[in-house]
Amino acid sequence: MFSNRASISTALQSFKLDGHMLRYNSFAPKLYNWCLSLGFTPGKIMPSRAFCSDESQGFPIILIAKHFGAFPFNHGRVGGIVSVERHGPHADHGKDLVLVQASHVGYDPGTGEFGVYRRLYTEHATNSCACGKIGRIVQKYAEEYIYARDSVRLIRHEGRPSVLLDYLLISPRKQGLFLVAENLVEGAEHGLPRPVSTRSTGHVFSASPRLLARLGADTWPREGSVAVGQHLGAEDFYFQREGHWEDPFQDQLEQNLLAPMPWILTSPHPLLTAACANTLAEFERTYRSLLQSPAMHRKNLLFVAGLNIDISPDPGEDFPLTKFVPWAAFLQRSDGTQEIFEQDELLERLGAESSSNPTQLNLEHAVQAMASKREVQVRL
Ligand SMILES: [Zn+2]
Repeated sequence: MFSNRASISTALQSFKLDGHMLRYNSFAPKLYNWCLSLGFTPGKIMPSRAFCSDESQGFPIILIAKHFGAFPFNHGRVGGIVSVERHGPHADHGKDLVLVQASHVGYDPGTGEFGVYRRLYTEHATNSCACGKIGRIVQKYAEEYIYARDSVRLIRHEGRPSVLLDYLLISPRKQGLFLVAENLVEGAEHGLPRPVSTRSTGHVFSASPRLLARLGADTWPREGSVAVGQHLGAEDFYFQREGHWEDPFQDQLEQNLLAPMPWILTSPHPLLTAACANTLAEFERTYRSLLQSPAMHRKNLLFVAGLNIDISPDPGEDFPLTKFVPWAAFLQRSDGTQEIFEQDELLERLGAESSSNPTQLNLEHAVQAMASKREVQVRL
């Protein structure tokens, strides 16, 4: 999905949010009704979800259970990663299959801030990071980015606009933040040229014409140096990590976010952009795994991926107001025919379905029925 750097910005911009959100109490019945219109058998559909383990994801799960009449199978790992090795057990548990993947991001309607969620059950009902797993990964890379913004400096050498690059940023390493030198340094298309001067902590190079054109010569100070700061754009750097992931499942999230990380860090809402990037990567990865899974052979299967926006609950409310932003869907019919729905087609398809579901489960009645059921002895 993100293997070609030149396409990352376009890919992220393709995930449209404005005008593409569905409240879960509308999305869940529409999804169920779509399954029925596809010929899935009522009462024989096993839904599954691949959501983060955050308790904020409970409300969507309850609504899926309510409308499908079955508690969803669990395909999810923290951060909204799909356990693709669980396709087999999922396929065993139902005649027809639905899988919903969603990364999530918190939202505070009071401040308009993404990436935070009010935890009503903490002592002082404070806001904290959501998705926390994504937040921890982004924070780690943000520290390197902040260092680079301060350590790439605009300076004049004999009056000419130049850049002072910290040794750490241009030293040979196996991992960390790497500069796209040709964006910053003149004549660096095939590696860094000879510096025009050397300082105690870095080399000075002539500024590249494209940097000069982008910033304008007046950005350079007459004396001393200034940090390049926010002018260090997503195209100017990238990250590399060693390929030895401790836990290939837990680290899938970091792998998904590694290439788009410069665009995540420079976006107005980094955790929102990161969640979208993860959904893009997980849809593609899961789609390919479903194609290859023998367990899915001759199954009716609908896989939908998107973003859960968790709008923080107010005191006294039991659940967040969760909105779903669909990204893409993959449909496979038992006769082997397959179809992919891109974002607008998917939204249109869901929009055409009714949000009414007369067969939805009455959870209170269901729980009451189990509570009043005659005792069954477990014999040992
Ligand atoms: Zn999370």
